[in-house]
This record gives sequence, structure tokens and C-alpha cells, in this order.
Amino acid sequence: MENCVFCKIINKELPSYTVYEDENVIALLDINPKVKGHTLVIPKGHEANFSHLTADQARHLFLTTQKVLKALLSTESLAQGANILINQDQIAGQTEMHVHAHIIPRTHKNNFGLNFNHSSSLSLSHEQFQNIAKEISENLK
Ligand code: 5GP
Ligand code: ZN
Repeated sequence: MENCVFCKIINKELPSYTVYEDENVIALLDINPKVKGHTLVIPKGHEANFSHLTADQARHLFLTTQKVLKALLSTESLAQGANILINQDQIAGQTEMHVHAHIIPRTHKNNFGLNFNHSSSLSLSHEQFQNIAKEISENLK
């Protein structure tokens, strides 16, 4: 798609630090890495959001994400763990509107700020949990 930076990278109109590529997916280093080894995994077909992917596209995206994750984890200085992140739409921080998964390696030394801090968890009643679960499950297709 015109004016899409990831399509331009996929079409080799822009350079990238590619770590993996096949007919469906490309994986490359994020140009503004949050930590060393921060990698983006990008389906080659232009779709704006993760929610738009076909089952096949989602499968390729996740299998490639796992493949690259394993490569990162095999170098302990680069990754002892990782956060896998997909931002769905601008409200969640998506800036490039071509779906991509972030692999953000974590080590004891890097200090990426994503933190599921349990002290900030919501306190919900039994009824609230039930209503939320019902609402989600009723919309599953
Ligand atoms: P988002 O916030 O949309 O989930 O993340 C988009 C990511 O794409 C950002 O982390 C940003 O650094 C990265 N990015 C934007 N433009 C380029 C580019 O031209 N090349 C590469 N490798 N990454 C880019
Ligand atoms: Zn695109």
C-alpha cells in the first residue's frame, strides 16, 4: 500500500535490518529499539490491524514470532525472556497502520518499562467478572 513504511520495506524500496523473511512474513529490527534485539514481525500482505488477519495470516505471524523468539533466547546476553506485543489501533499506541508483532527481549540488565504491576490491578466483584466474561463469550464467533 502506498505511503506504508512497512510495505516499502517489504518491497525493498526502503532498507531494513532483516533477520528472517519468507513468502508470507518478514522480521526485522525496530529502527527505534526499546532494548537491544527489539524485533518486528510483519505479515507481507497489507492489513491495518491484527483483528483483520485471516486465520492463515495469523498463523504465519505467530509461528514466525515464535521462531524469532527462539533465536533470540538462544543468545542469553540478548534475551532471557521477552514481551510479545501487538498494539491494536491508535488508542493502544499503534503508530504504523500495518499489523506487526513486537518481540521485546528482556534481560536482567535491560530496563524496558512494561510492567504488569499487581498492586494496580482492578478490584472487581463476582458479578462484574461474570458480566464481563458473558459479554466477551457472547461475541465470540
Ligand atoms: P507501533 O507503535 O505501531 O506498534 O510500532 C511501530 C514501530 O515501528 C515503532 O516501534 C517504530 O520504531 C517502528 N518503525 C517505524 N518506522 C520504521 C522503519 O522505517 N523501520 C523500522 N525498522 N522500524 C520502524
Ligand atoms: Zn503496509
